Amino acid sequence: MAEPLPLPADVRSQTREELAAQFEAWSLPAYRLDQLLEWLYERRAGGWEAMTNLPRGLREQLSARFGLRSLSLARHQGARDTTQKFLWKLADGALIESVLIPATPALYGEASDRHTLCVSTQVGCAYGCKFCASGLDGWKRHLGVEEIVGQILATESWHATEAGAIPGAAEQPPAEPEPVSGTSQPSAASSGRLINNLVIMGMGEPLANYANLLKALQILNAPWGGGIGARKITISTSGLVPQIRQLAEEPQQFRLAVSLHGATDETRNRIMPVNRKYPLAALTAACEYYQRRKERMITLEYILIAGVNDQLSEIRPLAVLARRLRAKVNLIPYNDVTGLPWKRPEEPVQEAFLAALEEQGIAVTLRREKGHEIDAACGQLRLKTERELSRREST
Ligand code: SF4
Repeated sequence: MAEPLPLPADVRSQTREELAAQFEAWSLPAYRLDQLLEWLYERRAGGWEAMTNLPRGLREQLSARFGLRSLSLARHQGARDTTQKFLWKLADGALIESVLIPATPALYGEASDRHTLCVSTQVGCAYGCKFCASGLDGWKRHLGVEEIVGQILATESWHATEAGAIPGAAEQPPAEPEPVSGTSQPSAASSGRLINNLVIMGMGEPLANYANLLKALQILNAPWGGGIGARKITISTSGLVPQIRQLAEEPQQFRLAVSLHGATDETRNRIMPVNRKYPLAALTAACEYYQRRKERMITLEYILIAGVNDQLSEIRPLAVLARRLRAKVNLIPYNDVTGLPWKRPEEPVQEAFLAALEEQGIAVTLRREKGHEIDAACGQLRLKTERELSRREST
């Protein structure tokens, strides 16, 4: 059987400069490019035919040269004004998650009208952290630039057109996905931006998909694209040392969050295989380098897991590390994952851990939201849906 032809590059994977070169080659005036970009990022058009102020011939040229693929909503959980989880179906049928987080001062500093989206960067994950649902079925592939960018656009489109129609806590069961990352006609509801903060810590190890992530962030950061300030973008990593150093050389002032989850090699080795390749000494040196280059405060993410890393004996090494890196610590009580043995510590244990770190003079927050009610553990909704679908197929 013949190999399927590769899909044309998606137009949302292209920078303004790349598109400008194409428009120049077609001898088109610059304002046509501005019109196209407005359709893509302001109005979030889902198809070429919607771009009514572009000549038909140009729309045909564009559709022959570029793809314009939409993410389809496979499932949604959560109520308006609370954490909402989206399960997106990609063109090849793969499922990924994004999470829309309401403003919480406990998450990344200042309280405001922020709308934060937690974004995935891979289908599955190869890093196999023992407590994580995303890595349970292994790694499938990197997300393309347009699939990273598309999560923001699809969430904003969904919010503009659907949020008001879903009263109270709701869950949509898996259904035939509907494309949502655009409308066939522009409308007031479909334009304007919602997301003004990004955390790159959904499914996958972001820095393992470095080139696509950085290009996507370039598009999301640009005034002609997502318009999200670099300082409002937090990139998370489980500890890929060479890429942290590489990121330190980039011109943008992204925030860095390290998924630490243990302040000794012994604890990290137990739950995070990546630590065997890049032990704490190497990770700490890379973080210090990032901090020196960027003069940005680093966040240390610390998922509290009962009996694994919630003992008060962990406080001292964690405080030493946080002080050395001048880092803030974000404590996140574990969200139980079906099929995994790890448990969330009782609330008094969480509070005692928080208080002990505060006593050490560390800037620390404890996330108190009840995220587990909506399968908040990273990768949990995808796993649940894939298993439900495969059960249906086998009956
Ligand atoms: S915690 Fe992050 S890096 Fe670790 S397996 Fe899960 S998605 Fe991968």
